[in-house]
Amino acid sequence: MKRLLVIGGSDAGISAGLRAREIDPSWGVTLVVADAFPNYSICGLPFFLSGETPRWESLAHRTRAEIENRGIELLVDTVAEAIIPAEHGVRVRLPNGSERVLESDRLVIGTGAAPVQPPIRGLDAPGVHLLHTMGESFAVHEHLTAKHPRTAVIIGGGYIGLEMADALRHRGLAVTLFEAAPAVLQTVDAEYGQRVQEELQHHGVHVRTSTPIESIELGPEGLVVRSRSHETVVADLVLVVTGVRPNVNLGHACGVALGEGGALKVNRRMETNVPDILAAGDCAETLHRLIERPTYLPLGTTAHKQGRVAGESAVGGYAEFRGSLGTQVVKIFELIVGRTGLREDEAMRQGFSPWTFESVTWDHKAYYPGASRLRIRVTGDRRSRRLLGAQLLGRYGAEVSKRLDVFATALFHAMTVDDVAHLDLSYTPPLGSPWDPVQTACMERALAAPASDPRKDA
Ligand SMILES: Cc1cc2nc3c(=O)[nH]c(=O)nc-3n(C[C@H](O)[C@H](O)[C@H](O)COP(=O)(O)OP(=O)(O)OC[C@H]3O[C@@H](n4cnc5c(N)ncnc54)[C@H](O)[C@@H]3O)c2cc1C
Repeated sequence: MKRLLVIGGSDAGISAGLRAREIDPSWGVTLVVADAFPNYSICGLPFFLSGETPRWESLAHRTRAEIENRGIELLVDTVAEAIIPAEHGVRVRLPNGSERVLESDRLVIGTGAAPVQPPIRGLDAPGVHLLHTMGESFAVHEHLTAKHPRTAVIIGGGYIGLEMADALRHRGLAVTLFEAAPAVLQTVDAEYGQRVQEELQHHGVHVRTSTPIESIELGPEGLVVRSRSHETVVADLVLVVTGVRPNVNLGHACGVALGEGGALKVNRRMETNVPDILAAGDCAETLHRLIERPTYLPLGTTAHKQGRVAGESAVGGYAEFRGSLGTQVVKIFELIVGRTGLREDEAMRQGFSPWTFESVTWDHKAYYPGASRLRIRVTGDRRSRRLLGAQLLGRYGAEVSKRLDVFATALFHAMTVDDVAHLDLSYTPPLGSPWDPVQTACMERALAAPASDPRKDA
């Protein structure tokens, strides 16, 4: 029997294993997973820690039995220590401490990402936490439930920091959030970051932007967090969430080339430069569909798709990763903010001639209760009129993410801004308008081109 070995049991690894068995059940599939939590939704950790999802077990996408019933052998608490391409082998350390070399015909590396540890003194002080794995979330949970902290500092204003600010406020902690950049949520324009900051402040989060942290020290009153400008805040709990870096040591050590963002270099079939070794998920680079170049965009959505492609390719099927657009959305208290494609500054750097226009409309007919304002920022290319990107900001319930997804779909198909305005979208007053806000945004005077007249063109 041919055998596929997968290192990693999260979004990418599980997707690869499941797809491989679907495509060719004659292959045996073994998953080597460093911890005991295969196929858990780490995207759900903030909601487990807020208490909104009280049982961590409910974060499982699938149970262990469901995975094994699909014919996958799971080796949990088993750490891959070295890949030996010449032997088609992987040396692993088993839970009992012994070593073994597992042989396979093909290997998928799905080792994910690790949290960045910024150059801050005192990251190892008790009460300072990172947040990426189930294990790290248990440490935070234990701190919250056993020590009942009243104050928290979050270092990092990216989407995980923001979700955690919401989560810790939900638990009643006083929260201070530090961000080194001038605005939180650097993935959207600063004006949208500013609105996110206002939402945080409205819910009692103390936000300090342009404030890089230098050190954390355990003092008599608690953890003393000190900024480079000598501002200090004392807290019972500190969370450091300043981004991730691809976990590439295993792959790189056996000869896999590195690409964008220091991630494992892959082609569209998720093959690396080393024969019979593929890679997927946060450890691998990502093809950007719009600019048609590799980039590094570590997201669960991408990890699932890349994993599926890797699993199919590995067992002899033909699949290609079609590319990512960096589509992402986050909920911060009652506010939803999302983006897809390129922002104006990014588009400019890619050689487009971008122009951006913002529209503010009701999410649904204002005469029906509950209408709220929706901001949509559309970026298009002046020359080709191609849609390049969109950013949306609105209230929870205003269908922000599904409207963002309309833009993502349009981008996927390289539509023009004018095409989007002509889409046949659904309408009923409690949910939208005859011209959906997505379309109105693309019809703004500054964007809309008069239709060309085929009679004149003929
Ligand atoms: C708090 C949080 C919230 C998030 N929210 C979102 C969201 O809302 N939307 C979104 O799209 N993305 C979100 N993400 C990102 C998303 O979770 C990741 O992109 C996704 O989990 C990547 O999957 P992966 O399989 O590539 O890697 P990972 O999830 O990092 O998993 C890596 C796997 O490899 C295993 N492993 C590593 N090294 C070894 C080794 N040497 N031997 C054996 N096994 C090994 C690990 O045990 C693990 O099973 C969030 C992430 C976090 C932390």
